[in-house]
Amino acid sequence: MQPFLPFTRPSIDEQTIQEVADVLRGGWLASGPKVKAFEAALSEYCGGRPVRTQTSATASLEHALLVCGIGPGDEVIVPAMSFVASANVVVRTGARPVFVDVDLETRNINLDQAEAALTARTRAIMPVHLCGLPADLDRVYRLAERHRLRVIEDAAQAIGSSYRGRRIGSFGDLVCLSFHPNKNITSIEGGAVVGGSPEEVHELELHRFHGQSRISADECETHFAGGKANLSDVAACVGLGQLRQLEAFNARRRELAARYFELWGEDAPLTLPARGDAGHNWHMFAARLPLARLRISRLEFIEAMAVRGIGIGVHYPAMHLFSAYRALGYREGQFPNAERIGRETVTLPLFPAMRMEDVERVVGAVNEVLREATR
Ligand SMILES: *Cc1c(COP(=O)(O)O)cnc(C)c1O
Repeated sequence: MQPFLPFTRPSIDEQTIQEVADVLRGGWLASGPKVKAFEAALSEYCGGRPVRTQTSATASLEHALLVCGIGPGDEVIVPAMSFVASANVVVRTGARPVFVDVDLETRNINLDQAEAALTARTRAIMPVHLCGLPADLDRVYRLAERHRLRVIEDAAQAIGSSYRGRRIGSFGDLVCLSFHPNKNITSIEGGAVVGGSPEEVHELELHRFHGQSRISADECETHFAGGKANLSDVAACVGLGQLRQLEAFNARRRELAARYFELWGEDAPLTLPARGDAGHNWHMFAARLPLARLRISRLEFIEAMAVRGIGIGVHYPAMHLFSAYRALGYREGQFPNAERIGRETVTLPLFPAMRMEDVERVVGAVNEVLREATR
């Protein structure tokens, strides 16, 4: 029996482990020089734009909304297919998430529906670059300009992706990154906001530390009752080690994804993801099961793959069907593509430490399970 193959796994190199040990011995553990260095390195990666880190992308997204002044009475357009953080952060500001459907193939926001959903209360739009495939940002920013909307990009899955040759984060309004261990690089937990005016960047700093700023060695001011979401130097040290490897990680992800397509050619037994272009960072390889033609459920598929030593993920259930969002009035049938993806999606293993033989093993197991299960 081969070792269990998870759908994702972070790769931490020995050099980073050594550097973390040095931080632990150094005596400065909370936000300090490593956080500054991580933010500087991220800024350089994003074309010199300002970067402020937080303890999660959930905090990054929430703070980005808050510095735009979004709150009660406001509406934010959000695709119904994403990780639930995308909508939760809007609710937490007191604003209303206004869901729209996604494209079935790209899984990204349907901008015709976004335009139709605008009201006098719409303040912002949150495109999500799902699986690392960038949303149509030219159109997003044209729409935002025409209707004076802020754009908060949920780029949690898109570090290292490019849109029409421009790196995600190197342009645009406020762009939020995640360094959760499942993402393309990790700081264990962590996130960042890229962009913002000098005033907004200052406000981001307040939001992550009690609404407080230091005036001098013996004086500080608390401007509002802020929360706490500052990254630790230990986490930033991990992030710095990961950022050095980001390009190599993403190149490997692209090779592995290409191998899936090559092995399946035109006759895959499930619907493969949109291929995108060379700018896709292949955060996830999410396919759809042909459930109508199968004698088994998705859960039975996941169990059959687990028996073969292969981990399968589900990313994601449609957000509007969660009880937290039904309570806001959302109902089944409103966003058919998001609902269909939510029912049929399966994430196949894809991470930098995977071997080409692992891809072959996954393809073989999927073919076998689905052949046996087809009506
Ligand atoms: C992971 C993720 C988040 C949240 O990131 P955290 O760092 O775990 O808070 C938000 N949106 C999307 C699309 C994600 O994939």
